[in-house]
Amino acid sequence: MEAKLKSIIEKHGKDAGRLMDILHDVQCEFGHIPCDAVKIVSKILNISKVDVEQTISFYHFFSTSPVGKNTIYLNDSVVANFMGREEIAKAFEKEAGCSLGNVSKDGMFGLFNTACIGMNDQEPAALVNGIVFTQLTASKVKDIVAGLKAGKKAKELVKSFGDGANASELVKSMVNNNIKKKGQVIFSEYATGSALQKLINKTPEDIINEIKASNIKGRGGAGFPTGMKWDFCRKAQGAEKYVICNADEGEPGTFKDRVLLTEIPQRVFEGMAVAGYAIGAKQGILYLRNEYLYLNAHLEKTLEDLKKKNLLGKNILGKQGFDFDVRIQLGAGAYICGEESGLIESAEGKRGEPRNRPPFPAQKGYLNKPTVVNNVETLASVIRIIEKGSEWYKSIGTKDSSGTKVLSISGDCKNPGVYEIEWGMTIKEMLDMCVAENVQAVQVAGPSGRLINEKEFSRKIANEDLATGGSMIVIGKQRNILKDVVKNFTEFFIDESCGSCVPCRALNPVLLQKLEKVISGKATSKDIDEMTRLGKMMKELNRCGLGQTAANPVLTSIENFRNKYEELIKIKEEQSVYEFDMNGAVKESCEMVGRKA
Ligand code: SF4
Repeated sequence: MEAKLKSIIEKHGKDAGRLMDILHDVQCEFGHIPCDAVKIVSKILNISKVDVEQTISFYHFFSTSPVGKNTIYLNDSVVANFMGREEIAKAFEKEAGCSLGNVSKDGMFGLFNTACIGMNDQEPAALVNGIVFTQLTASKVKDIVAGLKAGKKAKELVKSFGDGANASELVKSMVNNNIKKKGQVIFSEYATGSALQKLINKTPEDIINEIKASNIKGRGGAGFPTGMKWDFCRKAQGAEKYVICNADEGEPGTFKDRVLLTEIPQRVFEGMAVAGYAIGAKQGILYLRNEYLYLNAHLEKTLEDLKKKNLLGKNILGKQGFDFDVRIQLGAGAYICGEESGLIESAEGKRGEPRNRPPFPAQKGYLNKPTVVNNVETLASVIRIIEKGSEWYKSIGTKDSSGTKVLSISGDCKNPGVYEIEWGMTIKEMLDMCVAENVQAVQVAGPSGRLINEKEFSRKIANEDLATGGSMIVIGKQRNILKDVVKNFTEFFIDESCGSCVPCRALNPVLLQKLEKVISGKATSKDIDEMTRLGKMMKELNRCGLGQTAANPVLTSIENFRNKYEELIKIKEEQSVYEFDMNGAVKESCEMVGRKA
């Protein structure tokens, strides 16, 4: 083991900052990260065992115990459940011979739930040994498990390939792009390198001014003005700066960045080079969520091709001193790494816990150097602004939201997929566009966004009205809002909280308990008021966006679907009997420490 570990660590330059890459290789080599490996890795890297253990324990896809020779992660998103995930889960359990959350007795299969894997438009979906399987049926599950039992590799069990570059040699995936609408910015014709050609005759300040003038705002969800972010970073002290592309799209319901990385990765990398020139960075990092591992070779090849064309590397397009290179950093399954400072921590090989601010990443980011973190779609947009000018860009969209927005639409509609729209489209127009009928609600911007009812369908998709990073989940009238949607989202936030703030760690489970109380008909109206009070408190007291928005499913469903709660209130407050089962409450903790309750 020691020799193998030494060679893995050497491969990553004996650099503790590359711990994520080292752990990925160890997990791949041994099927898990054995305790002895933890000791050896910490010794060679000269860091504490605890440093290694805490990184491992933070991520869903690292494990110190065996996770089966074949590891299956079944998507547990709201839409996966709409599309029949339960039947698929049962089929996997039957065929693999183990229940969800466990490893089969013979060690052949590990079967686990996982949060949204970015396939909401082709559910039910699962990752089998890192390979994506979509639109699963019980019979497909039977074939997959039989194939694995027969010793086939998961990749060999992919029978047909998806559209576009999904079918290319380096991807060969069954994933479909499902691009349903192409707009003027992202999915229109573009000659690679055009922005860089324009840029070489301009100063970094010119570029920043052009981006500022375009009024483009970040496309990941937070909507911060991109030009301003670049300006802060350019002006920050320090010669060494970084550009990070946030390709960790983990918001349940979003999958548009996956499509951009599949079809136009060269534009995303070119956008990173433009950002590098503007802020004065020579190094970029694309932080890729592990669920998109299947795109890694395709992305690496794109980087290689861009270097051959001198669109990356040294003296780009002959401009002396314009050097910019990109490396890909794989995540390991943690929603919070979509938060920029959590992502930076992760890229440094640590737990993806968000940092306190200030300082902001533009001042002190990756390795404490000034860093710009931009979303995939933002970077693919900036090259069009440089190519065609800020006036052209501003002529698209609304006064306060310029350009286009790529939406990931899924759920109860006939045409789920990726749509590039102009900002300003109403929700009603969006529902017509994706052919959705009998719609009860739309979850705008994923669980951290807003659950809206029919009364809000005339509202506009725009930063000044309904802002979104792209996730749009259509919820039909046949769905139970509380059980099928709000409960799943609340459980999601419990799983994904990094746990460092008490209100986030403790109040999400309290919200879930109260929600379950409502669903079971045991709540009183006081419980609904209490949920509202706690949810508002979470907005105030939590450190990062996750904790500040984790109560949104509860808060916005109470706001817009209060009748669904009230229908379940059968007990009047004065009739309620308060009981507390002390033994039941401490049972789990007693079992953990081996004490009798
Ligand atoms: Fe972690 Fe939640 Fe605090 Fe964010 S709010 S830092 S996720 S505990």
